[in-house]
Amino acid sequence: MTLLFIMVVLIGSLIGSFLNVCIYRVPRDLSIVLPSSRCPSCNTAIKPYDNIPLISFLVLGGRCRYCKARISLRYPLVEALNAFFYGAVLWRYGLGWQTPPLLALCSALLVITFIDLDFQIIPDAITIPGILIGLIASSLILPDPFARHSLLGFREAAIGLISGGGLFYLVAMLSRGGMGGGDIKMMAMVGAFMGWKSILLTTFAASLLGSAVGIFLMIFKGKGRKTKIPFGPFLAVGALITLFYGQEILALYLHR
Ligand SMILES: [Zn+2]
Repeated sequence: MTLLFIMVVLIGSLIGSFLNVCIYRVPRDLSIVLPSSRCPSCNTAIKPYDNIPLISFLVLGGRCRYCKARISLRYPLVEALNAFFYGAVLWRYGLGWQTPPLLALCSALLVITFIDLDFQIIPDAITIPGILIGLIASSLILPDPFARHSLLGFREAAIGLISGGGLFYLVAMLSRGGMGGGDIKMMAMVGAFMGWKSILLTTFAASLLGSAVGIFLMIFKGKGRKTKIPFGPFLAVGALITLFYGQEILALYLHR
């Protein structure tokens, strides 16, 4: 199990390196396959031995081998986070057919977070396939994050999809542009993967976090109430809390 765990975490960091490519290229409508990665400063193609997740960043001291431009800390951060979430999926859900779709969900949430931070968009290229994969996987193999020993099932997933999309459609209507179509599809995806209860917990956690960060920015950074903060990253954190702690939080709530 330990060896397996290490392997999954290593794969997580490798896929994390690919997610960095997606975060950069998907919102710019570039191919995620070709060309190979280049230094954003000097445009030199990055050699495979300089592209080892986490290790290369440390070996190179966080600078490009050729032009010595600083490499954003975000690259190793995304690799580390993805590796961490992959390990957490194995820890919570064990290894089985449920593993690949759950890993995919974590990676999708990570990519959504950084693209939304950069561009204030949540690409359909991630959420639409995500909705389909979530619905199919839930029907066949995915466990219920609030009762990890039972299957979620098609009905729960379909209700989750509709309630997630519906709730955020309503919020988008009422907030007049405060919430976008991307958030609607993202929450339809979250519901398809984790059912309707996940919509409640994800939304609740995201609102709490969003308010806390909003107040912090207002007080300490002097940002006005009109400053736009993308909501996708908060929803992603809420969804991850649901995935890893949904069952525990529900138990606390029922037995308080
Ligand atoms: Zn360079």
